[in-house]
Amino acid sequence: MTTTANQLFKDLVQKGRLSSTIAEVASLTAIDVAPVIEELSGLRDYHQLRMLESFQESRVSDYHLGVSTGYGYGDSARDTLDQVMAQALFAESALVREQFVSGTHAIAAALYGLLRPGDEVISATGLPYDTLREVIGIDQASGSLQDFGITYRQVDLKPDGSIDLPTLLEQVSPRTKLVMFQRSRGYSLRPSLSVAEIGQACQTLNQRHPHVLTFVDNCYGELVEKLEPTALGAHLIAGSLIKNLGGGLAPTGGYVAGKAELVEKAAGRLTAPGIGAHVGSSPGGRRLYFQGLFMAPQVVYEALAGAIFAARLFERLGFAVTPRYDEHRSDIIQAITIGTAEGVVAFCQGLQQACPVDGFVLPEPNAMPGYADPVIMAGGTFIQGATSELSADAPIREPYAVYFQGGLSQTFVRLGAVIAAQKLYDRALLP
Ligand SMILES: *Cc1c(COP(=O)(O)O)cnc(C)c1O
Repeated sequence: MTTTANQLFKDLVQKGRLSSTIAEVASLTAIDVAPVIEELSGLRDYHQLRMLESFQESRVSDYHLGVSTGYGYGDSARDTLDQVMAQALFAESALVREQFVSGTHAIAAALYGLLRPGDEVISATGLPYDTLREVIGIDQASGSLQDFGITYRQVDLKPDGSIDLPTLLEQVSPRTKLVMFQRSRGYSLRPSLSVAEIGQACQTLNQRHPHVLTFVDNCYGELVEKLEPTALGAHLIAGSLIKNLGGGLAPTGGYVAGKAELVEKAAGRLTAPGIGAHVGSSPGGRRLYFQGLFMAPQVVYEALAGAIFAARLFERLGFAVTPRYDEHRSDIIQAITIGTAEGVVAFCQGLQQACPVDGFVLPEPNAMPGYADPVIMAGGTFIQGATSELSADAPIREPYAVYFQGGLSQTFVRLGAVIAAQKLYDRALLP
């Protein structure tokens, strides 16, 4: 029996923020999830030790934590941070930059860096994440890859959510330059792909079609499993620093990691050919990037433990959830199918009321750049839009699912989940 959890729910009842009905379900949930969360602590410890070793082997020092300006020539902190990240991600090389405005930007720099007119790119995991559709040119946009004569093909996942490797191998042509994989579910109800499955596909491609490069959109997946795709044959991965690897502290940025010559090409696209990774300063200083990376194993653990609680809570309340609380995870996202637009709005408004920043705000669905449907986003975060912090996003479209992720502390995620559940209860939207 987890007495601290029960105390939390009791306090919420006493303060009039939770009904005894929801508190009762939450208490039972806490008991169900305790062994699953206990097991997860082993993953956290494994990554924390590896992270410490990465820092020590790169000889991170106090003087790396200060600022640099202008070109940043000879900025050893920049190179050291790249080196720490490379080791943490089992990669030859990495490019960690605050000049990446988002994960989409880092992924786009990788794609534009590697692809040339006449090349073909294949997505091996169906339709890519919303913001990448304009990058590729699936959705019309000026300056897309398609605009530069780079064609696109897609191999859908099998109905069970696994990679359709035979079809993928068949679709590869001499023009195929790159095959991309999306590890996370993104805004869809498919399962996240395990690193082992992505690695298997990359290795098979490497053997059968050695001219093809493999790229993984690694967003939301970092440190959720023991290995990263780069450890199992993926040539290049990319992601955001306001998700897992920023540890809730990195104020902005993205990363690319993998084979050194490919990282260099992405760097040439971020800055300019020739100067690549060798310029770029950090006027605000790199302390939060180092510190966030060091904290990332703990913060990812807190997010996962919170997601496990939320999965069980909403399952107990009668909703379909994916993954289930005791299922394998390869990303930090918890999807909950609420089933109605009003329910999605209630969930997000409830979650918002549990946030330390903008807790008084009532979120509403809105058009968002890069997204086709209106999206409602909840999350009063210290870093704008950071999904390493507690947040929920939901495109207002069938099947009306919310995607819930992050949370700097497990207790805080539990608070958010129960208050969201309470909001559904208050509006008579529970099944
Ligand atoms: C978050 C995310 C991205 C990039 O999104 P940004 O908001 O630009 O950081 C790309 N792919 C997936 C699967 C994501 O989850």
